[in-house]
Amino acid sequence: MTGLNRRKIERLQNYIAGQWVDPAPTRYEEVYNPATEEVLAKVPFSGRADVDAAVQAAAEAFPAWSATPVVERARIMFRFQHLLFGHQDELARSITTENGKNINEASAEVLRGIEMVEFAAGMPTLMMGDALPNIARGIDGETIRLPLGVVGGIVPFNFPLMVPMWMYPVALTAGNTFVLKPSERAPLSSMRAMDLLREAGLPAGVINLVHGAHEVVNGLLEHPQVKAISFVGSEPVAEYIYKTAAANGKRVQALAGAKNHHLVLADADLRRAAKTIVSSAFGSAGERCMAASAVVVVAEVADRLMSLLLEEAAALKMGQGLEKGVDLGPVIRANHLERVHGRIEKGLAAGATLVRDGRQDARAFGQGYFLGPTIFDDCHPDMEIVREEIFAPVLSVMRVKDFEEGLDTIRMSRFGNGATIYTRSGYYAREFVLRAEAGMIGVNVGVPAPMGFFPFSGSKRSFFGDLHVNGKDGVEFYTRKKTITARWFAEGDMGIGSQKVFVK
Ligand code: NAD
Repeated sequence: MTGLNRRKIERLQNYIAGQWVDPAPTRYEEVYNPATEEVLAKVPFSGRADVDAAVQAAAEAFPAWSATPVVERARIMFRFQHLLFGHQDELARSITTENGKNINEASAEVLRGIEMVEFAAGMPTLMMGDALPNIARGIDGETIRLPLGVVGGIVPFNFPLMVPMWMYPVALTAGNTFVLKPSERAPLSSMRAMDLLREAGLPAGVINLVHGAHEVVNGLLEHPQVKAISFVGSEPVAEYIYKTAAANGKRVQALAGAKNHHLVLADADLRRAAKTIVSSAFGSAGERCMAASAVVVVAEVADRLMSLLLEEAAALKMGQGLEKGVDLGPVIRANHLERVHGRIEKGLAAGATLVRDGRQDARAFGQGYFLGPTIFDDCHPDMEIVREEIFAPVLSVMRVKDFEEGLDTIRMSRFGNGATIYTRSGYYAREFVLRAEAGMIGVNVGVPAPMGFFPFSGSKRSFFGDLHVNGKDGVEFYTRKKTITARWFAEGDMGIGSQKVFVK
C-alpha cells in the first residue's frame, strides 16, 4: 500500500518493477494541501539512476507484455475500470486534497479517467490493421500495428489522475510498457492508481512511476530505450520537450498552455451564457487548460453580460474543496498566487478596469492559496492579461463591434486550445466552427473538452506534435505500422503463387 496510506512515512517512493522503492539519495520537497497548507508528504527529486532503473524494468517487461494477447491486456483494463469505480470517492478525495478543486470536480475527473480506460479496453478492435488480398497477382498486402516499446509520460498538476490516463491505458493496452513522471506538486493520486493496476493484474514492470522534476524529464528525453514521449504542461516546457525528444529520435506529442476565448453574440441567451462562462472560468480555480479566460462580447450586449457575470460570480462559494457546497478552491501554490497577483497589477497598469477583485474575497481566509473570481473589463488583445495564460480565476473581457471583429480578436492569440461561441444562430455557429483558430470548439458549451473517444486537439502554440492524445490519434501514437507484402506458392507451383487457388 502506498500514496495516501503512507502518510506516517511521509517520504514518497518510486514504483519500479512492481515494487515501491526508495530513490537513490536525493532531496525532497513538500507536497501541500493548497487549501490548508498542511504538508501531505515529501516528494523525492529522483535522478538519472532512478530513471534508468525504471526504464530497465519497463524494457525487461516489454517482450512478455507485448506478446500477451491484446484481449488479455484489455481484460486487465476491464478489471482496472471496475476498481476505479469502486475507489471513485477515495480517489476524488485524494485529488481534492492535493490539488484543491472541489470534490464534485474531482469525482468528475475520476470519471473522465475511467472513460479512457473504457476506450482502451476496445483495443482488440482499435488496433486492427488493414489487409487487401491479391493486390497484385498472387500477392497479398497487409498492414499490422505493433507497440513501440518503452514510452514515457510527463504530466501537470491540474488533473493529477486524469491526464496520466490520457496516456497509459491506451499505451499499455496497445502492448507498450510505461514510465510515468507525475507532477511534483500533485504526485499522490497517480500513486494510488499504480496499486489499483497491480490489483487488476498488470504484471510487474509494465508500468513504473518515478517522482521528480527536470532531472527525471531529461533522463526520459535522452534515454535511448524510450521510444516515445507524451507531455502535458505549460507552453515553454512543451516546446522544450518537443524539440529535445525529437532531437533524440523519439516520437513526441506535447500538449501546452492555453488562452480560451469565448465569443458572445447579441442573439445569445445571455443568462445561460453568463452561467456557462462563470463555471468555465472559475471552476477548478481557473486551473484548467480549457478554462474560459477571455470573453469577447459584442458591444450592444456587453453591459448586460457584464452585470450577469458579476451576479453569477458573486454566488460562488469559496473554500476547502472537501466541504459541501464549495465551488471554488485555492490555486496550487503560494508562489503561483503571487505571480497571479502580479498579473492583476499589470492588468490595472495597462488600463483594464478591474470590475471584480477576487483578492478581497481571499482576505477572509487565514490559510490556503485563495483568490476569488476576478474580472477585468475593457481589455485589449495586446494586454499581458489577455496574451498570457494566467491559470487562475481571472477573466478578461473585450468588447467588439461584431462577429468578424470577434473572430479577428481570437485570431490574435498565439494559443489555440479551445474557443466557444454563444449564439442562437446556426449560421454564425457554423462560421465559427470553420473559421475560429482553435483545435476544440464549443457551441454554447463552456468547456468543450472532447470525451476520450475523440482526440484532444489543441492547435497553434497549445500543441507541439502531430498526433494528439485520446481517440484514434492515441492508438496511432502508441503503435507503429508494419506492412507486409506476401506471395505463397503451392507445392511444385512454378507460376505466380496462390492466385489460382484464390480465384476459385
Ligand atoms: P508545467 O509545465 O510547470 O509542468 C508540467 C510537467 O513538466 C511537470 O511534470 C513538471 O515537473 C515538468 N517540468 C516543469 N518545468 C520543467 C522544465 N523546465 N524542464 C523539464 N520538465 C519540467 O505545468 P503545470 O504548471 O504542472 O501545469 C499547468 C500547465 O499545463 C498549464 O499551462 C496548462 O494549460 C497546461 N495543461 C495543458 C493541457 C492541454 O491539454 N493542452 C492540459 C492540462 C494542463
